[in-house]
This record gives sequence, C-alpha cells and structure tokens, in this order.
Amino acid sequence: MAKIRLEHVYKRYGSKVTAVKDFNLETEDGEFVVFVGPSGCGKTTTLRMIAGLEEISDGKIYIGERLVNDVPPKDRDIAMVFQNYALYPHMNVYDNMAFGLRLRKVPKNDIDQRVKEAARILKIEHLLQRKPRELSGGQRQRVAMGRAIVREPKVFLMDEPLSNLDAKLRVEMRAEIAKLTRRLGVTTVYVTHDQVEAMTLGHRIVVMKDGEIMQVDTPLNLYDFPANKFVAGFIGSPSMNFIRAKVEGAGDAVYLTGPSFRVRTNPHLAAPLKAYSGKEVWLGIRPEHLGLKGWTAIPEAENIIKGTIEVVEPLGADSEIHVDVGGTVITAKVDGHAPVRPGDTVELLVDTGRTHTFDVDTEKSIG
Ligand code: ATP
Repeated sequence: MAKIRLEHVYKRYGSKVTAVKDFNLETEDGEFVVFVGPSGCGKTTTLRMIAGLEEISDGKIYIGERLVNDVPPKDRDIAMVFQNYALYPHMNVYDNMAFGLRLRKVPKNDIDQRVKEAARILKIEHLLQRKPRELSGGQRQRVAMGRAIVREPKVFLMDEPLSNLDAKLRVEMRAEIAKLTRRLGVTTVYVTHDQVEAMTLGHRIVVMKDGEIMQVDTPLNLYDFPANKFVAGFIGSPSMNFIRAKVEGAGDAVYLTGPSFRVRTNPHLAAPLKAYSGKEVWLGIRPEHLGLKGWTAIPEAENIIKGTIEVVEPLGADSEIHVDVGGTVITAKVDGHAPVRPGDTVELLVDTGRTHTFDVDTEKSIG
C-alpha cells in the first residue's frame, strides 16, 4: 500500500492549453479516491500523469515516499485498468492475466498461484481457457481487473472501467469493485464522469472543472456542503435547482423572495446573508427537499413556492415534476401517488433547513 501525493501539478499542451492547473492532493494509504467532472476537465490527464504515461509540466508526484517524476511507468508499482480493457485478443484469459508477470520473470509457480487466486476472487475460474472474444463485457472487465490484481501493485489506477457496460451490469460491477478494493486495501484512483459512480465508490471525491479542483471531500460532505454552485449542481441526481432570489429582512428572520415565492432561510444562513440584504443571490434547493403540499412531511410554514406543472415523470415510488416558477423551471421529487398533471397549479413546500445560497458573482457558497 502507498499514499499518492500531488504537489502543484500542472499539465500544459503548448502555450495555449493548460489541461491541469495547480493540482494538490494527498491520499490516505488504501484510500479509494474518485476524480469526477465533465468531459475535458482533466481527469484522465491527471491519472495518466500519476501513471507516468504523461509527462508533467510542473510540480511533483510522489507514490509512497518516492518522488516519481522521472520514474518510468513500469517502475512505479501501479496497475491500470482502462475503459477498453486492452486485453490481448489472441491470448486466453489465463495468459492475459499472466502476461505482465512473465515479463517480470516472476517464477512460474508463483504466477500460477496468483492467477488462480485472482480468478477465484473474481469468480472467473471457469473462463481461464477462453479467448476475450468468447467473453461477455462484464467478464472481460473482470479479466482486466484480474490482470491488475495479480501484479499486487501499491496503487490501482482506473480510467472509466465500467463505461462500456450496459446500465445493469455497470451497477453490479460497481459493487464488485467496491468489495474488491476494500478487501485488497490497495490505494485506488478512479476516473469517471458519472457522479453516481463517484458517490457510491469514493471514500473521497475530487470534483474537477476546467483543469482545476473545485472541491475534495467525502460523498456526503459534497452533497451537504458544496463549496460552490458548480459542485452543488454536479453532485446529486436530479440536479439541484437554482433560482435567483432577493434577500430581505434582518436578524434571524431573513427571507429569500422572488415573483412567486417567499422562503424563510435556513437559520444558520441568516447571519452570513446579512451582508446581502437587498441584493440577489442564487437560492439552491435539491429536488428531494421540495414536497407537494398535502403529500409531504415537510411542515407548512413560510416556505412555499407556487408554480405550474410542465412535465410529470412517474418513476414508481416518486415522480419528478418540472414546475414553472415565474419563468424558471425547477424539478421536485414528489410522492409517486400524488395526482399531478401537466398544467396543474401547485404549491411546493421547501425544507428550508436544507437550502443553499450562492454569491451571484463568485458562485461560492454563502455561509
Ligand atoms: P473525458 O471525460 O472526456 O475523458 P477528461 O476530464 O478526462 O475528459 P482530459 O482527457 O484529461 O479530460 O483532457 C483535458 C484537456 O486537455 C481537454 O481540454 C483536452 O482537450 C486537452 N488535451 C488532452 N490531450 C491533449 C493533447 N495531446 N494536446 C492538446 N490538448 C490536449
């Protein structure tokens, strides 16, 4: 096991593109860290720099206590799992898993033992003689994992390893990866653009945008205390709603108001919002923190948003309704049995203790 440390790491392509800017991170031993962010934000580039497949333009990368800036990939004691699995088509599963060990001149008996142990853990013992083309997507994915495991590396690096699988298999393999990495206790960095995957797998998540880290924290802290509007909108599904609102009142009774709502703020926001009195802020409310009047446990108080339903998406237990609130469409997750139809006028109750506010200029969280 080893910690990974990145200090002021940059990646520039020519003079115009800075793909990664001032990236700083230290993992724990055995930690599972997920890099997440929209396409092009620099996740893969950062992972490849840790792997040594991409030169760094500036900064330092340590694996364990060793500075690895100039250490070639094969000597970094890492194993990578890629999106396309990169299996050798002409070799059977056993040979695919054994290949890297043979190159390293690991004794034959040792190889045999490690391959069989990995196959047992991954439940692919019965597939060892098959060629990759004779395997399903999920089985190929397991083989790719197996090839990484047999190396007994200090660090696993995984780049969207589930993105070629269908939705159901992805969920299954996600659980497998979580179980496996917990069991092996190897420090893992995992890249994905899927925030659900990030939330379910990561001990900590690094949210990136335009080559920069937006926030590093545990899944729950990112959800409860997003540092800025970007993280707030990226983490959570469906996404947080953002409505422009004016700050009114003073003392501990501060209200956020708009054309069709007047919401009393989260009590702990009253003090930090004082400086915004009379000004506009972004009010952030997650769809699950809105309820339909008469169909929710959220207490009815000074916290109602009125609007007109545009779309109803029934999902069984819940329905997602899209509601026009004075020109802004917001999403609410409501009881699936509530009789709602497009065109209905509705009153949504706000769980004010769970609301967020953001500065309109800096987009940073207020409070
Ligand atoms: P995705 O989820 O789409 O894979 P990503 O977050 O992994 O995206 P990167 O592949 O790391 O993003 O790319 C980061 C940025 O660097 C992008 O803007 C990309 O266009 C740019 N980039 C990557 N490789 C090069 C290159 N060889 N030359 C110039 N720019 C590059």
